[in-house]
Amino acid sequence: AIRIDGLSKRFGADGPLVLEDVSVRIEPGEFVCLLGASGCGKSTLLNIIAGLELPSSGTVTVASGNAAVMFQDAALFPWLTAGRNIELALKLRGVPREKRRGQALELLDVVNLADAARKRPHELSGGMRQRVALARSLAQDRKVLLMDEPFAALDAITRDLLHEELERVWRETGRTIVFVTHNVREAARLGQRVLLMSSRPGRIANEWRLADDGPRRIESPEVSRLSI
Ligand code: ATP
Ligand code: MG
Repeated sequence: AIRIDGLSKRFGADGPLVLEDVSVRIEPGEFVCLLGASGCGKSTLLNIIAGLELPSSGTVTVASGNAAVMFQDAALFPWLTAGRNIELALKLRGVPREKRRGQALELLDVVNLADAARKRPHELSGGMRQRVALARSLAQDRKVLLMDEPFAALDAITRDLLHEELERVWRETGRTIVFVTHNVREAARLGQRVLLMSSRPGRIANEWRLADDGPRRIESPEVSRLSI
């Protein structure tokens, strides 16, 4: 679904290398976590995959064309209700007006928020706002979903709930997910595959494939440094 070859990135003509020679293949339907310390280049890599940032060299191909992106901040329109925020994404996708309301409610139901359709973002909790943002990403109906620390600002209990929901959504919709986090436990909980990035310059330093059942542990000296 995603092919990255020899990707390097620096900001400005003589800025330092932020990413150096990153090559990754991500298969359709895979759930990949990109794990690394703050500043190692995770968001830069994700933004390049999203097409929001250009590489300095190397190539990135997203087989399905483009991807939906979800950030740490839900970035909902504050003056629109949850339902309308999703209807707007459906409209941008070209869904006819008479179908939008029903589809928005179905999408809110997918993230267990059917009764919040009429609420505005400020009336929702942080976890609920991220659920609406997830429903809105799904409304874009892209095969690939790129997520940049979407649950980092949430408490541990809400985050656990959202992990379960995201996993269910992933299984039910068959999307390819690339999930950025600096949280080792989150990466081990969610990823089918975990890519560990090192910094200065950012590279893929290690990689784990995790079993669906059985222990989901990722261990290496770099990971232990991340955990403290
Ligand atoms: P965090 O976990 O804190 O979000 P990150 O792994 O996402 O960190 P990036 O945001 O990708 O890290 O940043 C990687 C490096 O690139 C940092 O040194 C940062 O200062 C630099 N950088 C990122 N964006 C820009 C920019 N627009 N201009 C210049 N330098 C940038
Ligand atoms: Mg980041």
